[in-house]
Amino acid sequence: MNFLSLFARNLRRGPYTEPFPFGPPSPTPKRLRGRIAFDAATCEGCLLCEKLCPSGAIKFTRTPEGMTFDCWHPTCVFCGTCEFYCPTKAIHQTNDWHLAHFQSEKFGMTEHGLIPNLVCADCGGKGLNTVPNTAKVRPPLSAEEVVQLRARCPKCRNKFLKSRGKKP
Ligand code: SF4
Ligand code: SF4
Repeated sequence: MNFLSLFARNLRRGPYTEPFPFGPPSPTPKRLRGRIAFDAATCEGCLLCEKLCPSGAIKFTRTPEGMTFDCWHPTCVFCGTCEFYCPTKAIHQTNDWHLAHFQSEKFGMTEHGLIPNLVCADCGGKGLNTVPNTAKVRPPLSAEEVVQLRARCPKCRNKFLKSRGKKP
């Protein structure tokens, strides 16, 4: 194709690039690795994601209210390691790539969550309201037993399993 016909074809087709941010939103691939999201209600509190994150973007902190989760988006390299190893998929990658921000906003670019404290249903001690890890418990627990287990502190969770003849 000579230059003139190429030029004419490109004129007919129009621009290949998106008029971002002025045009309509471009379609985003479903599997695009974007912003991290965290669901405190399904977290086991195992801290695997914090340990494995290659860029140190994830931080769990004990506070008087429980344990906070923070993922700092500007530090995340979108590798997907946290989601891959998370046993409950409480942490996962969305396909949201809208993370452009002003320098002054950088300290607010976080995903924040709180795993609240709980008062143990057995001993009255303090625990964390994390999802119990029941993947290897044999024989498997019923849904009701999982709820009862969750209402206990780590020590009482073990006692509860033994009292029911379950092997953790
Ligand atoms: S988000 Fe997943 S990997 Fe991270 S502490 Fe919670 S359960 Fe563990
Ligand atoms: S996607 Fe990778 S860099 Fe980002 S928080 Fe997860 S493990 Fe860390």
